[in-house]
Amino acid sequence: MKYQTIDSLDCKDKVVFLRVDFNVSLNKTTGEISDDSRVMAALPTIRALQAKGANLVLASHLGRPKGTQNKKYTLLPVAHRLAELLEIEVIFPEDCVGMAVKKLITENRERKIILLENLRFHAEEESNDPTFSQQLADLAEIYVTDAFGTLHRAHASTVGMTKFFKQKAIGYLVEKEINFLSQLLHEPKKPYVAVLGGAKISDKIDVIESLCKVVDKFIIGGGMAYTFLKAQGVSVGKSLVEESKIGFAKKIMEKAKNRGIGFFLPQDHLIAESFSNDALIKTVDNHQNWANWMALDIGPETLKIFSAAIQDAKTVFWNGPMGVFEFTNFQNGTNAIAKALAESQATTVVGGGDSLSAIKKSGFADKITHLSTGGGASLTFLEGKELPGLRALL
Ligand code: AMP
Repeated sequence: MKYQTIDSLDCKDKVVFLRVDFNVSLNKTTGEISDDSRVMAALPTIRALQAKGANLVLASHLGRPKGTQNKKYTLLPVAHRLAELLEIEVIFPEDCVGMAVKKLITENRERKIILLENLRFHAEEESNDPTFSQQLADLAEIYVTDAFGTLHRAHASTVGMTKFFKQKAIGYLVEKEINFLSQLLHEPKKPYVAVLGGAKISDKIDVIESLCKVVDKFIIGGGMAYTFLKAQGVSVGKSLVEESKIGFAKKIMEKAKNRGIGFFLPQDHLIAESFSNDALIKTVDNHQNWANWMALDIGPETLKIFSAAIQDAKTVFWNGPMGVFEFTNFQNGTNAIAKALAESQATTVVGGGDSLSAIKKSGFADKITHLSTGGGASLTFLEGKELPGLRALL
């Protein structure tokens, strides 16, 4: 590991700035936390730094307040949840920088945990402003990041402030993510199967290119499959198609063929008359004509083919649902793939926001080897690109 980890950090009585990813899901009506897994994921690092005698200052963003003090995005509910989980008092200042915050930290002799207010209440966070970076850095003596999901972004708290520290390290969550994703990138156990789905190819072009160098099979479902099918000459009705990516789809399928990579696309589909859970539904295959209908999930034959293709895998990476899993009538394909991964003997890694919620919804999350917390960050890593937030720590 080329990055310093918290294990080798001497932080007794030192103020440690810990960048965490507490960008939790909130219930739209009550404003309460509906999924606290991001808070849970940071606990091992928080506890280890506490045990080392660090004076902890935690910082995170939440949602997209776009540089305004929009209280809809306050981290206060997270402060309460953290206090419950750690069974200690958590101090929650009204801001993340400034004299009052600095004073709180200096006077915190009992080493209570301080969680700063949402970093994105300041537009300077996302613009990676040097003055704001310095203000954040002035709060602490050591910098640690455990916010894997933010490392592909060059923001003040992920990149800008790091240059002001001599001692900087990664937490356990980031260490675990790097270990799993590096294995996938550099030395996956074979056969290695990539299962890709979700809405668009355009978001995943670079990762598909990069996976082409290492995988033995591609399984493509979800909305993105229909651009590939159209590229093969299948008539896909009103299904999601990115016309501008048909050329890319052809090129990738050709590349895969030349390299002996298996390429699995849906052979039958659950189609709907309109984009709605209550729409009229039927099952069709690639030879039928479904001109005015749209495919919203993979069909039963495809499920069998995909599950069989996963069976002998030693490594599986999955990103993106197989259908519109938010609609109960179109979540079968996604759930069945989750089950196939859960039952497989392979090292299974699931990455990406929607894939994570899909796997949790399916009830198989605890059977997956590694659930990657970072959507964009995991994909960027698997594209073989260096993450700005990691580069900043070297
Ligand atoms: P992504 O963020 O690219 O992983 O895309 C996730 C989204 O893809 C989810 O909101 C799904 O509803 C959507 N999706 C999956 N399959 C389809 C499909 N066949 N047609 C339209 N949208 C889909």
